[in-house]
Amino acid sequence: MKTKSLLVIKPDAVKDKKIGRIIQTLEENRFEIKGIRMKRFTKEEAEEFYSPHKGKHFFEKLVNFIISGEVVGILVEKENAIEKLRELIGDTDPEKARCGTIRYMFGKSITENAVHAADSEESFNREVTFFF
Ligand code: ADP
Ligand code: MG
Repeated sequence: MKTKSLLVIKPDAVKDKKIGRIIQTLEENRFEIKGIRMKRFTKEEAEEFYSPHKGKHFFEKLVNFIISGEVVGILVEKENAIEKLRELIGDTDPEKARCGTIRYMFGKSITENAVHAADSEESFNREVTFFF
């Protein structure tokens, strides 16, 4: 059964002009694009979006990074979309990400790692409301 997932292009990749390349990578990997929206998170929204990480040492840095510029939310559909999209983005740390993954190609550091993807159906249901 086809399911949906959410990819968010982070401010580093938007500033680096990688939106097109990232959408191309999604399409080449047979994700159907169902929606695209660019926005800038307020600090409050960013804290809510990343609330599962509240209390971690990198939380403040992460929130400040995600509000530093525009982000692009992309709704995608594919068989087993959540798991397949996590595979396609690669490891959180671009240095460890497998060749061909989005973070391998476009990530610069563990903070500036180009994209976010929902990691469960529950996360998807919560995160999608920030864009659609
Ligand atoms: P992922 O984005 O792969 O699901 P996590 O959910 O663990 O990774 O972390 C959310 C985001 O927080 C990461 O994408 C990254 O931008 C940032 N992050 C995670 N771990 C660290 C860390 N050790 N230092 C700095 N930033 C981090
Ligand atoms: Mg995560």
